Amino acid sequence: MMKFMYGLFERENSLSEKEDFVKYNEDSPARYEIMMEGHKYGKRSGFGPKVAPLMISVIRNQNKVLNSLKKNPLEPRTEITEDELAELEKLAKKKGAEIIGYTKIPSNLIFENKALLHTNAIVLGFEMDKKKIDSAPSKKCLHEVLRTYDDLGIVSNSLAKFLRKKGFSAHAGHPLMGAALYPPMAQMAGIAFLGYSGIMISPEFGPRFRLAAVFTGIENLPEKPEDEHCWVREYCKACKKCIRECPGEAIFDEPKIHDNGQITHVENTKCMPHFINEYGCSICIKVCPFNNVDYYQLKENFIQKKM
Ligand code: SF4
Ligand code: SF4
Repeated sequence: MMKFMYGLFERENSLSEKEDFVKYNEDSPARYEIMMEGHKYGKRSGFGPKVAPLMISVIRNQNKVLNSLKKNPLEPRTEITEDELAELEKLAKKKGAEIIGYTKIPSNLIFENKALLHTNAIVLGFEMDKKKIDSAPSKKCLHEVLRTYDDLGIVSNSLAKFLRKKGFSAHAGHPLMGAALYPPMAQMAGIAFLGYSGIMISPEFGPRFRLAAVFTGIENLPEKPEDEHCWVREYCKACKKCIRECPGEAIFDEPKIHDNGQITHVENTKCMPHFINEYGCSICIKVCPFNNVDYYQLKENFIQKKM
């Protein structure tokens, strides 16, 4: 399996040598290769035979992302109609991606050595089951996280296929091993805001969802210019529960802002031993107030407290 994974990486990196792809730049972040690096931190508890079918499906869909690129139309359309967009959103929701947003991403959100066929992004969010996340750290919770990754990978490929059938060009973005940094992309799309835990917080599911994308040549996607969720940053500053409860003391007390404008919330080397050895941990998701109280209720309480 590892040999196959290395082959996938090589094929993925080779896209950045192709002329028609948008490449990373000098400010791009390096992607953390959890599937390759994880073993350094322990025996991967919970990553045994029970999750093997899910992992096989994940890899199959990552492979499909690359294989399907050659199916793009030679002369793609670039304008989508309102009806087609409604059809796309209906399909996304039917397949479980309840959150959908649109943005255009800059090259510095494309990971080092990676490339995308397009920078118009359809950003997708998929809920994780509350009961299962509330059992974290547990086998049940890990299974739910992996199931969500797998389902999102399937949705992303399905939507790319749908768009190609309509005459558009598309590049599916798998949630695991995506070519771009999804959280800031979701924030730019106005669907959620980055919490201090480094996890996105949305009105629909709080921090209990995962992200994927489809990149497309469609130029008239309805982007949302305003950012109605930026108050979450202030809430986090006052809350910091995830920081106190993190068993690895991995979450920074204040996010680190780098010279290139990128923000780091979590020290990977401190999180990974827990993530790998304690069923994907996920305590930071479980304890977040947005996992337990309605987003708008928290917003109202927060604003009233400040007044
Ligand atoms: S636990 Fe608190 S500080 Fe951490 S992400 Fe959630 S709201 Fe923000
Ligand atoms: S997954 Fe666990 S160890 Fe990692 S940041 Fe979240 S709470 Fe901390």
